[in-house]
Amino acid sequence: MKSIGKYHGLVNRNGMFCYFSIIFYISLVLPPGLLSQSAKGINNLNDQGKVLSLTEDGVVNHKCGFPQVLQTVLSQNKELNKYLTQQIELDSVYHSTSGHFIIHYDVTGPYAIPDYDRNQNGTKDYLEFVSNSFDRAWQIEIDSLEFKPPPDSAGLNRNTYHVYCFPLGYLYPDNPFGSTVLDYEIPSLTGLNYVTHIDLNVDFSFASYLNEDPIVRDSMAIAVTAAHEFNHALQCGYRLWPDNNYFYDIWFIESSATFMEEVVAPEVNDYLNYLPWYFNRTRLPLDQSLRDLTDYGKVVVEIMLGELYGADITRKIWTNIQQERALPAMEKVLISEGTALSREMVNLATWLYYTGADRSIPGQFFPDAPLFPDPDFIPADPILFTNQIVLQDSLPRLAFQWYASPYQTPQSISALLEVSEGSSAANLSAVYIDMISNEYYQIPASTSFEIPFQSIPDYLPVAVVSTSSEAGLQSFRLLSRPRVAAGSSEIIVFPQPFVLSEHQAYLTFKNIPPLAQLFIFSSNGKHLQTLQNDSQLPYVYWDLTTNQGKTVGSGVYLYRVKTDNKENNGKFIVIR
Ligand SMILES: [Zn+2]
Repeated sequence: MKSIGKYHGLVNRNGMFCYFSIIFYISLVLPPGLLSQSAKGINNLNDQGKVLSLTEDGVVNHKCGFPQVLQTVLSQNKELNKYLTQQIELDSVYHSTSGHFIIHYDVTGPYAIPDYDRNQNGTKDYLEFVSNSFDRAWQIEIDSLEFKPPPDSAGLNRNTYHVYCFPLGYLYPDNPFGSTVLDYEIPSLTGLNYVTHIDLNVDFSFASYLNEDPIVRDSMAIAVTAAHEFNHALQCGYRLWPDNNYFYDIWFIESSATFMEEVVAPEVNDYLNYLPWYFNRTRLPLDQSLRDLTDYGKVVVEIMLGELYGADITRKIWTNIQQERALPAMEKVLISEGTALSREMVNLATWLYYTGADRSIPGQFFPDAPLFPDPDFIPADPILFTNQIVLQDSLPRLAFQWYASPYQTPQSISALLEVSEGSSAANLSAVYIDMISNEYYQIPASTSFEIPFQSIPDYLPVAVVSTSSEAGLQSFRLLSRPRVAAGSSEIIVFPQPFVLSEHQAYLTFKNIPPLAQLFIFSSNGKHLQTLQNDSQLPYVYWDLTTNQGKTVGSGVYLYRVKTDNKENNGKFIVIR
């Protein structure tokens, strides 16, 4: 796997932000003077690593009003139109430091911005947060990632952009962090493109970050919202694809904007709140827009592609969206990167296994993986010492599911992902994890694969991935059978390794012929015990005691089995 660190690919290519650090970031977002007061709080927050934006009753606030805005445009939704066609009059104007943003606000009345000025420079800190955050969004999304600037009414690049600050609860039923609003369509550009402005909330009291300082909270909420909403403004200069009375690809519109939060303001992990929505819905088609918080949770797709192929991959896909919808546009870019959507679906299932505090591996897969939720495992049947079906299920296009099977077989098995009639092996893949080595294996359907004997811990995680972009369910069964064919004389010792505290108090040797003698030695060759198979069954059991009556300690042991015509040697492990 190509490891590029956390978007340093983007940063180094332009040579602009190689020195980028948390302190540098804070100094951009917070006005001078506020840094010393808040640095401790920010550091604490980074130590804890997690930022929450939950309302007081634990409900995640709706992130963005853009889907609602889109809904009003083509459907003429009267309920929403009632709100969004109102005009909020704001009296004052502030120009961002770069000059790109014209920020409209009020200082008194119902729409007033917060009036704190902690650095006492005569400018309200809220305005400085908005100015710095939007300037940084422009700098990274346009100057570094090379998105086109927002379009004007002639379809040409704008150099300035309008942001309106007021309590969004006045217009938006969900009281979101921010929203991008369509002003009018641009006839000179192909397809639907829009001149836009951004509405930004002034009251983020619904956002509950671990840092309890409300001013730091505001700075963080504004940082992610500027990155997110400004990306919507840029998207509107590429193309929005209409679907009767709504728009297609809301899932990609929202996951792209959420990805920009992570690129522009990586210290604020607001996106973590939306991951459980997608983690519980991976068995639905990736490109199905659910129009709820799941669409934000699909940011993991773009974070993964950003890690693998560079953070500008989202801009490359948007460039192709001028010609075609999100999924074929994404496929075209992935092919130019030497990969394919089908392969990346298998990667996504794999990456989402290594998440959460228990399974994440430092320096691999998602950088924030320890803070992610656990994958959503469905229990499957136990894997036994017989030919059997472990699971059967069906999945739609671009979907996957993790399953967990208790592992009760005393030896290695072969598994086979068998495709049911009417489904295609080319459209399915399996991923399984060797729990002992923690390695993953990506196996095509209809290819039998060996699962080594795993006794600790005793279940097998398997994902089945439906990699096709075509509609239609893919049905399948996962079969397992003993790796050693019936009648084989190969000697098997189990459980392995033998853990005295976890297993029954004897070790089993299988395929020992009747009357055969079994000799057990320490790793340096000292003879410890002799056992004989006095039964008609091919098993010998050992209670771990020596011929002196002592129980053996932890270590590697050797055995030798003698029959009339041959001798077999092997070793096994005991852990006390
Ligand atoms: Zn959005």
